[in-house]
Amino acid sequence: MKELVQEKWKKRPLIISGPCSAETEEQVMETAVRLNNTGKVDIMRAGIWKPRTRPGSFEGIGTKGLPWLQAAKKVTGMPVAVEVATAKQVQDALHFDVDVLWIGARTTVNPFSVQEVADALRGVDVPVLIKNPINPDLELWIGAVERVAKAGIKQIGLIHRGFSSYGNTEYRNAPMWHLAIEMKRRNPEMMMINDPSHICGRRDILLDVAQKAIDLDFDGLIIESHIDPDKAWSDAKQQVTPERLAEMLDSIKWRKEDVANEEYHAALEKLRQQINHLDDELMQILGQRMKVAEKIGQYKKDNNVAILQTNRWNEILQRAFDRGDKLGLSQEFITKYFDAVHMESINHQNKILNS
Ligand code: PEP
Ligand code: MN
Repeated sequence: MKELVQEKWKKRPLIISGPCSAETEEQVMETAVRLNNTGKVDIMRAGIWKPRTRPGSFEGIGTKGLPWLQAAKKVTGMPVAVEVATAKQVQDALHFDVDVLWIGARTTVNPFSVQEVADALRGVDVPVLIKNPINPDLELWIGAVERVAKAGIKQIGLIHRGFSSYGNTEYRNAPMWHLAIEMKRRNPEMMMINDPSHICGRRDILLDVAQKAIDLDFDGLIIESHIDPDKAWSDAKQQVTPERLAEMLDSIKWRKEDVANEEYHAALEKLRQQINHLDDELMQILGQRMKVAEKIGQYKKDNNVAILQTNRWNEILQRAFDRGDKLGLSQEFITKYFDAVHMESINHQNKILNS
């Protein structure tokens, strides 16, 4: 099994799938068999201990689910992966021959927990995947990688699962692709896979996010699957059946390996994709900015205040000059850009005032 895991670790694209949570012995076995039948899944995932936001939700089946995974592995030959957050969980998972461990987003945020897991991994030879922290903080993610690496773990991979933000957005966790790209830039040798399930939180946009990740040259995907998604005990809205997973994987346009004479075009294409994604994010942020401006407009209307407030505008520009300077953006550009943004804001506020 160790050799198979090594082989899978190097395979591109690496596909990991399985239920958010192991629920029953039958569910684990049926999922494993159906995933294996697709011929497209390299490693089976299953949550055994679930870090839930609120108490009272299903908090995972616990250690008694580990033998179920062992049995599923025996029948299908698929290596298995489990999330660990404490030393005890690491020990239990290893005792039951779990092949790959992952550190969840709620653990990566906490250096105490990451250190505890890292200490438990000392002297162990097991691949570890590290999810990005819940909040958009690259340093925490890097810190977790460093702690695990210092414990002597040689095979470390990254999972991009998006970042939490306040309020309802299109995504359960905003992808903030630029952060994943920056993490890849800083760790060029490290595998990075994408977790569309936890980014989307819903089935209908999974494929779109998975395709984006592949376009951005991610090394693989981890996607939750369930034999009866609507009845899943956790994350029901985002899971798909093993068969639907296979269809999705079939419809993804996989990037070709760079062939010598195509290298230049492939590289250019990837960079253009990055530009497109960054532009998409800029537009989203601009949209949000206008919404805030509208709220201010409403406030001004209620209080009978003029729209244009020169002092405030000078303050905004000065801040932008200072920051822009550090980022290598010219004053000329900042001025043009902010003038355009300002005009658009005023138009939005005017609409509110005259409504
Ligand atoms: C999970 O993979 O089921 C999970 C809990 O993910 P995350 O840590 O990304 O929230
Ligand atoms: Mn989940």
